[in-house]
Amino acid sequence: MPRVAVIGGGLAGLASAVALGSAGFEVDIYEARNFLGGRATSWPVGGEDSETIDNCQHILLRCCVNLLDLYRRLGVENKIRFHREFHFIEPGGRVSILKRGLLPAPAHFLGSFLKLKFLGIQDKVAIARAIDAIPRERRTRTDLDRITMLDWLREKRQTDAAIGRYWRQVLVSAINEDLDRMAAVHGFQVFWLGMIALADSYEMGIPDVPLRDLYDEHSLGRAGAVRIQHRSPVTAVEAGDSSVRAIHTAAGRNEADFFVSALPFERLQPLVQTWVTPGLPIEWGAFEHSPITGIHLWFDRPVTSLPHATLLDRTIQWMFNKSEGRYIQTVVSASRSLLETPRNEIIGLAVRELAEFFPAVKEARLEKAQVVKEVRATFSAKPGLEALRPWSRTYLKNFFLAGDWTRSGWPATMEGAVRSGYLAAEAVTEAAGMPLRFLLPDVA
Ligand SMILES: Cc1cc2nc3c(=O)[nH]c(=O)nc-3n(C[C@H](O)[C@H](O)[C@H](O)COP(=O)(O)OP(=O)(O)OC[C@H]3O[C@@H](n4cnc5c(N)ncnc54)[C@H](O)[C@@H]3O)c2cc1C
Repeated sequence: MPRVAVIGGGLAGLASAVALGSAGFEVDIYEARNFLGGRATSWPVGGEDSETIDNCQHILLRCCVNLLDLYRRLGVENKIRFHREFHFIEPGGRVSILKRGLLPAPAHFLGSFLKLKFLGIQDKVAIARAIDAIPRERRTRTDLDRITMLDWLREKRQTDAAIGRYWRQVLVSAINEDLDRMAAVHGFQVFWLGMIALADSYEMGIPDVPLRDLYDEHSLGRAGAVRIQHRSPVTAVEAGDSSVRAIHTAAGRNEADFFVSALPFERLQPLVQTWVTPGLPIEWGAFEHSPITGIHLWFDRPVTSLPHATLLDRTIQWMFNKSEGRYIQTVVSASRSLLETPRNEIIGLAVRELAEFFPAVKEARLEKAQVVKEVRATFSAKPGLEALRPWSRTYLKNFFLAGDWTRSGWPATMEGAVRSGYLAAEAVTEAAGMPLRFLLPDVA
């Protein structure tokens, strides 16, 4: 069977490798680090034998069908626990719950939506008007990649509370971009698939185990002949006029029949700049990053019994109860405002804000804390970018692209990364003359 070299062992690379391995290809994954998962991974907080924490809480929705398919192929789907209730908390601690009721989609949230205490009647009428327009306008409008989500919300006469307390809470963390920087097309897609299309597609999946445990070598073994070359950063890609001949690592030159780059754009660019052939006409300058900051807090006693909640009107957007109400992880998406802030100030801010929502924090002692600033968390899903995201095929007949920044049909998410991996794997099978389909269609 043909040999495939996959560069990068994040979710995009793993999806390509698992799909091709299960189709009988011989696959080598070249991964720079000594563990898999890329940006969706975990590390021991105080050296090898210490407690493992995720770089940041990663969540999925039931509409992430390709990610769930990858988990199934790896035999780890039972390690994802789904939650049916979204908790919105106001400063002061008042909780509102959004969950589906008995009505079918798209009216499945109606009962709980009407009971949300943090929105007034005018806000709800405005939101209902916008939600009603989404299914229609996603089919008819051609400007959704050119305008921001905020432009669209203003056009639909959304109140300030509707924007700040509803749309921002739902969309900024899903797409990791502010409403005034996010192309409306992404807001539409996530909202349509996650909140409107099917009654259960909003259910939030949270891994029961550290992210890293979802993709160990044992689970990869289920996918056929997939080998992992750990600590093998690819340092050069050797290309001819129409194909790639080999990749180079510190251990030497590695040939293969097909190559899949599953690297982030900033890692791929320096590798392909040295090519003699201008094989990749990518507008590199169009791609920018949007950061995420995760703040891990360990208290000496439980501070909440909620499993997770979105926090209104403050810097911290989400909190996840990682262990018995004592280990709390908070998340700030599109966290540009925190990039220059010293870590101890960020910890102080997180504790102060948490105390506004959970009074028990005031009595508790903070035992330890970690701040993880992911400056290059995802690409910024700004207007105009969608048309510039590259397809998996390149001008080189045996070199393919995957990664959450490529044209996956989704924003930069785990689902987007897996979709890109499956698409690249499909392109490999076509080039090998044995076309196969791996990508599952969206839920609607
Ligand atoms: C803090 C944070 C929170 C997030 N939260 C969510 C969430 O809740 N839900 C969600 O769906 N998504 C979330 N995301 C986004 C999601 O993690 C990414 O979209 C996805 O994991 C990207 O996968 P990838 O395979 O495209 O890239 P990566 O994960 O970046 O994988 C690339 C791999 O290539 C390796 N590599 C780099 N250079 C080389 C080289 N020269 N040679 C060999 N290997 C190399 C890297 O080590 C890495 O393993 C979050 C991201 C971050 C950073």
